[in-house]
Amino acid sequence: MPPPNNNEADSSETVFGEIVRGTISADVVYQDELVTAFRDIQPRAPVHILIVPNKTIRTMDDVKQEDEATLGRMLRIAADIARNEGLGKNGYRLIINCKEHGGQEVYHLHMHIVGGTRLGRMVAQ
Ligand code: AMP
Repeated sequence: MPPPNNNEADSSETVFGEIVRGTISADVVYQDELVTAFRDIQPRAPVHILIVPNKTIRTMDDVKQEDEATLGRMLRIAADIARNEGLGKNGYRLIINCKEHGGQEVYHLHMHIVGGTRLGRMVAQ
């Protein structure tokens, strides 16, 4: 795996930034110069992986035009990871929570890859 290209800590760094830089451990399943993917510490499904940009983007509301390549990479790698995890045939769900109403807990943009079972309704009634 090539190392990420952002080795500098950032004042808004969260636990995910530390995982990207390798200063705290996680079950990393993929890393390149733009994104890092690791297993969720509290899985809500048989497969639950988070994919994050290596640079700190706090929320979807902070995404800029310059981040298009990173977000594209997140989606493409998510599909590759899902296939590698055996989710290609039956499918899976990708989720990005944004801020308070979206239920975002960690303010470092991340996409959940969840699957391995039939998932419930997308939004609770
Ligand atoms: P969200 O509610 O979208 O912000 O999701 C945050 C997710 O991060 C939750 O599913 C947590 O279980 C997960 N999480 C928090 N800390 C860690 C960690 N150190 N390693 C892996 N996953 C984590």
